[in-house]
Amino acid sequence: MSNMKSYQERDKKHIWHPCSQMKDYETFPPIVIKQGKGVFLEDMDGKKYLDAISSWWVNLFGHSNQRINDALYKQANKLEHVIFANFTHEAAIELAEGIINVSPKGLNKVFFGDNGSSAVEIALKLSFQYHQQMGKNRKTKFVALTDAYHGETIGALSVGGVDLYSNIYKPLLMEVIRPTAPDCFRCPYGKERKNCDAQCFEAMEKVVLKQHNEITAIIIEPMVQAAAGMKIYSANYLKKLRKLCDAYDINLIADEIAVGFGRTGEMFACNHANISPDIMCVSKGLTAGYLPLSLAIMTDKIYNAFYDDYPTMKAFLHSHSYSGNPLGCAVALETLKIFEDEQIINQNKIKSKIIKEKAEERILDLPNVGEFRQLGMIAAIELVKDKTTKEGFDWQKRVGYQIYKIAVEKGVILRPLGNVIYFMPPYVINEKEIKFMFQIARESITMYFDR
Ligand code: PMP
Repeated sequence: MSNMKSYQERDKKHIWHPCSQMKDYETFPPIVIKQGKGVFLEDMDGKKYLDAISSWWVNLFGHSNQRINDALYKQANKLEHVIFANFTHEAAIELAEGIINVSPKGLNKVFFGDNGSSAVEIALKLSFQYHQQMGKNRKTKFVALTDAYHGETIGALSVGGVDLYSNIYKPLLMEVIRPTAPDCFRCPYGKERKNCDAQCFEAMEKVVLKQHNEITAIIIEPMVQAAAGMKIYSANYLKKLRKLCDAYDINLIADEIAVGFGRTGEMFACNHANISPDIMCVSKGLTAGYLPLSLAIMTDKIYNAFYDDYPTMKAFLHSHSYSGNPLGCAVALETLKIFEDEQIINQNKIKSKIIKEKAEERILDLPNVGEFRQLGMIAAIELVKDKTTKEGFDWQKRVGYQIYKIAVEKGVILRPLGNVIYFMPPYVINEKEIKFMFQIARESITMYFDR
C-alpha cells in the first residue's frame, strides 16, 4: 500500500469532510497533503498539485510563506491568546489601525470574529440592533440577492440564495426579501456588463421602494457573486445600491469575504464603484490563508448607536472565544505589510493581464466554453451545451466535478462550481504556472467532452 493509501484508509474511519457526499470518497478518496510551497501542494507520495483555487480562496502569497511563518512564530513566542473583553494587545491594535487605513473611507471601527460566517452574523445582528436602538423598530428584514452566498450558519444561510446549500433548511431560516441578481452572461436586457447601466437594478429598486420601512440592511457580494459561479456584474449596480440605501436609511453590508484583499484587482471590490458600505465583512485573505479570523468593519454612525451607559442595554453583547486572536492578528498584520512592501495591487495588474492572455490562448476556442469572464485575479469559464443558446448542462451530470477529477490527476486543483470552472490562484503564481494551469484546464475539459 502506498504511503498515501494508508492515510486515506485512516481518514475514512473517522473524518467527515466539508461540502462533500462522503460516498464519493469511495471512488475518489481525499488527497493527503504533506506540505506546500508557493502555488504547489505536495501529497504523501511526492506528487505536486497547483492550487488554482487558493485552498478555498484564502491563500494570497503562497503556501508556507516565509514572512508569514516568521510573523506567526514571533507572535506565538509572545502571546498566543487572551480574552478580548476588557483586554487587548498590540497585534489587534496595529491590525485595526492598518485595516482602517486601507478600507473604503468612512469605515472606522472593527469588531473581531473568527470566520467568514461569523462576520456575516455579526453584521446582520449589528444592523438589526442599530435600527432598534435608533427607534426604527419596524426595520427588521434583510434583503439579499438570488444566488448570493454568505456562509453556512443559520443567519448567513438565510441571506444566502443558493438553493443547493439552503433548501433543506428552509423551515429554519429567517424570511429574506430576495430580488433577482444581475446575470450578465444571460442578460435579459441584452446588455454587456462592461458598458451597461445596470438596468437589472430595477428588481432591487422595486422591492426597496415597496418595503423600505421594514428593511434594516441589504447584504451583497460586491462585483462578484463567487459561490454562484464567479458571476461578475457591473460596478454601476453598486453605485445605484449605495444611493438607494442612503435614500431609505438602509444599511449596506458588503460581504468582501471572498472578493476582498485584491482578488478583484482593487484592495476591496467596493473600490470599483468608489462606494463605502456601512458594514464590511472580511475574512479568508485577511490572514493570507493561514488562520481563521474575520472582521466586521463599520462606520462611527453604527458604532455610536451602541455607545451609552450600561443600564440603557445598548451594548453589543456578542462574543467568540477566539475574538481578536493574537496569532491571527499578527499574521493579518504581516499580510497588510506584504501588500504595501511588495506593491501587490500593482503587481496583480500585470498578472491579471497574463491570466487573460493565457486563458484566451488556451480556452476560448473550445466548443463548450460559453463565456470567459475575469475581474482582476478571478477568472472563470462557463461551460455550455451550445454556445448560441447558452444552454447549460444538467446538474445531475456533474460536469464540473468530472473535469475536476481529471485535472487533479493531471496536477491542478480546479474544483469547479457546477458548470463553471474558475481560477483564483495565489498571487505568487508566475507566468509559467499560469500557462500550466490553463493548459491542464484545456486538456481536462477536452478529455471530458471527447470521452
Ligand atoms: N461570504 C462569502 C462571500 C464567502 O465566499 C464565504 C466562504 N466561501 C463566506 C461568506 C463564509 O466564510 P466561512 O467559510 O469562513 O464561514
